Amino acid sequence: MSAESTDRSIELDRPSCQPLDGRTCLVTGGSRGIGRGIARELGQYGATVVVNYRSSESAAYEVADAITDADTAGTGHVIHADVTDRAEVDAMRDGVRDTLGPIDVLVNNAGITCDRTFDDMTADDWHRAIDVSLHGTFNCTRAFYDDFTGAEYGRIINISSVIGKQGNVGQANYAAAKSGLFGFTRSLALELASASSGVTVNCVAPGFTATEMVEAIPDDVQNELRGEIPLDRFANVDEVAGLVRYLASDAAGYITGEVIDINGGFDL
Ligand code: NDP
Repeated sequence: MSAESTDRSIELDRPSCQPLDGRTCLVTGGSRGIGRGIARELGQYGATVVVNYRSSESAAYEVADAITDADTAGTGHVIHADVTDRAEVDAMRDGVRDTLGPIDVLVNNAGITCDRTFDDMTADDWHRAIDVSLHGTFNCTRAFYDDFTGAEYGRIINISSVIGKQGNVGQANYAAAKSGLFGFTRSLALELASASSGVTVNCVAPGFTATEMVEAIPDDVQNELRGEIPLDRFANVDEVAGLVRYLASDAAGYITGEVIDINGGFDL
């Protein structure tokens, strides 16, 4: 084995700056829930974070202000766009580019449920779930794609779900959208890898996580679901956010095209 390929150094370097210092990150649906946790986490580790929202404007400003006010290098910014609307997403891209330049990290987090068993599922139910998670991810990735091609560093992180792997009663639309993200992630990882060895694309597939999306599930169903999770609890937002922050860091530069589960053993 050559000397270059083996690091035998035992000297420990103390990091001189925060791991995401100088990185500009956009989190879609950063106003609430998992997206809010991700935005805060990235900001806490030094990033400039753009918090996208659709309807929760004041919540988005609270997240951005908390990032800016915290005792870190990170700063928060707010931008509106409905990710299902190409024109709004393109305007969001132009707004971000004019103020902050190209982004380094895109977190495609925005998602909704529109649950109904297939007997009762309308075309509208189907399209609503797929429009936000899948088409929204396409729209945002399309809009910011040029920021990643040939960049020395870049991260696209798509938030899927354990339901994309497992399926679930009443969630055929949501499961289709979330499993669609798996193939999208792998294909884009390959395409971007051929343009730059510093740009990675990964997917995070959380299990049930304590947010308003899960609070909307009736209590008895929540209890049943909890009983099926080996770790016997829902994830908290910070646990999912910590994984996204790791994937955004330099340390994760050799992980690409992966779907990373974080579900308390739910799929075992
Ligand atoms: P919440 O319902 O708590 O928050 C959803 C977020 O998405 C809000 O910030 C909302 O913004 C935003 N959003 C929804 N539609 C749009 C849109 N069209 N354009 C822009 N933003 C939009 O959901 P969670 O935090 O629970 O979920 C976040 C992601 O994690 C989703 O993709 C979800 O599928 C996924 N996930 C969640 C799990 C869970 O158990 N909670 C488990 C696995 C995956 P606003 O309020 O401004 O409209």
